[in-house]
Amino acid sequence: MSAATTNATTAIVACQFCDTLNRVALDRLEDGPKCAECAKPLLLDRPVKGKDEHLSKVISGATVPVLVDFYADWCGPCRMMAPVLDELARERAGQLLVVKVNSDQNPVSPQHFGVRGIPTLVLFRDGQEVNRQVGFAPKAQIERMIDASAR
Ligand SMILES: [Zn+2]
Repeated sequence: MSAATTNATTAIVACQFCDTLNRVALDRLEDGPKCAECAKPLLLDRPVKGKDEHLSKVISGATVPVLVDFYADWCGPCRMMAPVLDELARERAGQLLVVKVNSDQNPVSPQHFGVRGIPTLVLFRDGQEVNRQVGFAPKAQIERMIDASAR
């Protein structure tokens, strides 16, 4: 790990209203971070949307692990996965960034990351893939996957 000049944990997320990328201080989420462009709240206690045009920046821009869910609206197992991801995002707000990528609307990213079936969960640390889960998995299994990659 490279020498850090600060212990601050940050993430880069896209505003869900205007798509502007914002850098958010994750240790100050209780201050209610707002989008620098449109001033609407940046809500990180739930999954954020990932899009083709910014997914790589979001993945590499976080100092915390990033869990990316490649899903589609018509996929039954994806719908089963959704509440698990909601819970993880809420319980680990500030320690984990949960990103959901609609693979129908964003066809480039799944191809880029070698996603062959959905749902696929890919866990990144420092911009590098460290683990992935293909198909539905219960919450405990996802938690083990995240915790197993902890330093
Ligand atoms: Zn905005």
